[in-house]
Order: sequence, then structure tokens, then C-alpha cells
Amino acid sequence: MSRLLRRRYPRIEPEGAVDHLVVGAGVVGLAIAERLVKAFPTRTTFCVERHGQVGQETSSRNSEVIHSGLYYPPDSLKTALCIRGRDLLYARCAEHGIAFKNTGKLVLALSDDQMGYLRRLHDKARRLRADGVGDVPLEWLDGDAVRRLEPNVGERVVGALLSPKTGIVSSHGLMEHLEKEIIDSETGELVYGTQVVRIDRAGPSGGGKRGDGSEDGWIVQTRTDDGSGGEGALTAVLAKSVINSAGLNAHHILNQVLPESERLQLHFAKGSYFSYRGPGVDQVQRLLYPCPEENASLSGLGTHLTLNLDGEVRFGPDVEWLSPPLTDDGEDVPDFWESRLAVSDERMELAVEEVKKFLPGVDASGFAPDYSGIRPKLSKKGETAVDFSITHPRPGLISLQGIESPGLTSSLAIAERVEQVVRQEVWGLGRGTGRVLSEGGRVDEWA
Ligand SMILES: Cc1cc2nc3c(=O)[nH]c(=O)nc-3n(C[C@H](O)[C@H](O)[C@H](O)COP(=O)(O)OP(=O)(O)OC[C@H]3O[C@@H](n4cnc5c(N)ncnc54)[C@H](O)[C@@H]3O)c2cc1C
Repeated sequence: MSRLLRRRYPRIEPEGAVDHLVVGAGVVGLAIAERLVKAFPTRTTFCVERHGQVGQETSSRNSEVIHSGLYYPPDSLKTALCIRGRDLLYARCAEHGIAFKNTGKLVLALSDDQMGYLRRLHDKARRLRADGVGDVPLEWLDGDAVRRLEPNVGERVVGALLSPKTGIVSSHGLMEHLEKEIIDSETGELVYGTQVVRIDRAGPSGGGKRGDGSEDGWIVQTRTDDGSGGEGALTAVLAKSVINSAGLNAHHILNQVLPESERLQLHFAKGSYFSYRGPGVDQVQRLLYPCPEENASLSGLGTHLTLNLDGEVRFGPDVEWLSPPLTDDGEDVPDFWESRLAVSDERMELAVEEVKKFLPGVDASGFAPDYSGIRPKLSKKGETAVDFSITHPRPGLISLQGIESPGLTSSLAIAERVEQVVRQEVWGLGRGTGRVLSEGGRVDEWA
């Protein structure tokens, strides 16, 4: 697709210049743009979004859970950014009136094996604190104590870990807040309905005109929907730095500027949700997660119960790997997933079976297909899960890929991290760290 885009959109000369150009206004792109606007008040920051509104893709198709930082390997970006992001997010919500609730969560064990899994989680949380990574408090409960807290939980549950720092947040509330901060700033701009279609290196290495380094950066070509149903208006801007935060499309942006040997392939795992109205959940106060089951069709974090801010119950997300159609170049057809968002009844039956294991009073007739979201994965089905990847593969280009869960929780911390890279690597302030900030390395000890 990157080749196709380059053929379809020949290079054009830039009409203006900007210091930072963020591709994508999901929650992560917005958080980055907001951070850059505040950190560099004399520099210009554009956040370019192809839809007419912010957060129309993964950022509005998730569980809205503020994760505590429990599940990921101790030395991963996911752990570090989730814990830091969680604390920043609670503080931001409290300060700016963004709707949230610190519900707490129970991870439930149904067998001795699963108690072993909980013990490993508990040990890891202790180590995280001891090693100064962060605080993930957990409390042990036996089965009876679980049922005293959550009377709807069934007798099969033999124990649980209570995570008091887990909560829920209005992702739309958070994005509206970030959007407003950018729009209200002097030097930040949100550009809606505008798709980045081509990126080329500018400056000496990219054949810029003056060759004195003053045009160093990236020529970013965009297509703006003019509402006429036609191709839209094409323009280009010279960006001193580009931050690729295009979510499910991030590889198509990045691959345009990388040689074939360095190109990245994303994989896609759909998560479906089911709304629930019926018996067996009337007293639920906290989020309820089963232990993940290795190799089960509903693996991941298990089909769990989440609450929204109105107290409504929903179950999900499950895990369903998608096989995208491929272009002649062997890349996935961009946005193929848009036609795969419907939630099937068949998957609902599987979810009901899973849920009944820990909430035996639920009734299958109360479940209804709700919505789904797609995880941008750096590993394939059956491979070990991979960490967030935030890279700096070329001067002035910072790229985020594989920002799946806990990306919402981590968004403000990711933005903090990107600001450090921009400060050091783009503006030469502070210590430089070389080209690569972090590879999306493989991680063995996932829980
Ligand atoms: C099922 C599911 C459940 C989840 N649950 C949780 C949870 O409970 N807690 C949590 O912390 N995280 C959760 N996550 C993860 C979280 O939702 C994501 O990490 C986060 O939303 C990613 O935000 P983003 O801005 O990177 O991506 P997106 O929201 O996908 O934003 C990318 C943006 O880039 C735009 N774009 C793409 N290409 C272009 C282009 N060429 N030009 C211009 N714009 C472009 C898109 O239109 C889009 O708006 C979940 C994810 C899934 C799928």
C-alpha cells in the first residue's frame, strides 16, 4: 500500500512549515500534540486527523478501563507507561472534571492452577515496588471474602486478587479535554478531515533546494476532503518533525519512508463486546476479570465484566484474529477492518459460557451483541505478545506502533516519553540517545 500511495500521489512542493506534525488524533496522538503544545509554546504543532472528528477508531472502541499495570513484564514499556499513565490520568481527570470512577477490580481464580497464576501476579507486583518501577497494590481474598464483596460471584471462584487502583474513564471526556487544550493554545492546531497520503525526507539527504539544512525535516502531503465527493484537495507542508500515531494505519505511514528490509507488518485481533441486561449482576460494584486461559479461543485478559460510568454492565472483549486481504505488494489492504466490525451471535454464545463460570446467575437471553474494536498487534496469532514500540527510525521521525491495551491508560505517559525524544533528538536539548528509542522487543514473561 505504501508503494501504491506513492504512485498515486506524486511529490509536490510544500506550501508552509510546521515544527511538529502528529499523524492521527486518537487518544495517543491527541495526548502527544497537547504535550508538545505545552512543552514548546513557541513552536507550532499540527495534529492531522483523516476523520471529521477525533477518536473515531480504536480510541472509541475499547473498555475504557484505567489499568493498574498488573499484567505486563516488569521491564516493559507497557508496565512503565501504564503505571505512570494511570497516575497522570487520575490526576488529570480530578483536576479537569473528566468523568472517571476508581471502581477497583477483582482477578478471579477458578482452580488451584489459576491461584498459582495469581500468586505470580502478586509476586511480580511486589517486585515492581521493590525495584522502584511503580506501585501496583494488590490484596488477597479467599472465595468467601470475594462473595462478601461481590455477592453475584459463584461458588466455583476459590480466590482473587483485588486491584484497588483499577478504574474506568470516559475516553470521550478525555479526548474532548485534550482537543480543547490544543485548539485553545496559541501554537497548536487540529486539522480535521485530512489524510496524510505521502511523506518524503526533505533537506540535504532528501534533495531539498537550499541544501543548508534549513529545510531539514519531512515533506508531508495531505488530502483534505472538500465535501464534493471528489479526490479532495492536495497540499504539502514541511514538518521539522513527524510523529506517527496512526494506530491501525501506522505501518502504512512508516513503510513509506523505510527500505523493504526494515518494513513493518501489523496484525489485527478483533475484540467483541456484549451488552447485558438481566439477572445475576445486580450487586456488582467492581470490574471482574477471570484469569487468562492460555490457548483458549477467548484468551487475552479473559472475557471480563466491565461497567460503564452509568453503571451498565458489558462483557468482553474476546480475541478473534483477522486475516486481512493483501495488496499485490503483499501488504494488508488499508482499513479492511472497517467491514469486519459487526459482532456475531456465534461469538456471543462462547462469551456466555465463559461468563457463567464466574457469574452463574447470568441468563443467556440478557446478552446482546454490542460493539467491537481492533487491536494493532506486532505479533501474530500464537506468538509471544510484544511490547509497545516507540521508535525514532530516522532523524525527525518518531513512530508509534502496536499501541494496543493499555494505550488509553498510558496515553499521557506516552506523550511525556515522546516529548523527551522530541526535546533531545529533534531540538538537540538535553542528552541525545541515538536513533532508536525503543524497539518493540519480544517479551517472554508476560504475566
Ligand atoms: C478491544 C480493545 C479494548 C481495549 N481496552 C482498553 C482499556 O480498557 N484500557 C486501555 O488503557 N486501553 C485499552 N485499549 C487500547 C486503547 O484503546 C488504544 O491503545 C488507544 O485507543 C490507541 O490510541 P491511538 O491514538 O494510538 O490509536 P487510534 O485511536 O486508532 O487513533 C489513530 C488515529 O489515526 C488516524 N489516522 C490513521 N491514518 C491516518 C492518516 N493517514 N492521516 C490522518 N490520520 C490518520 C485515524 O483516523 C485515528 O483517528 C483497548 C483496545 C482494544 C482494541
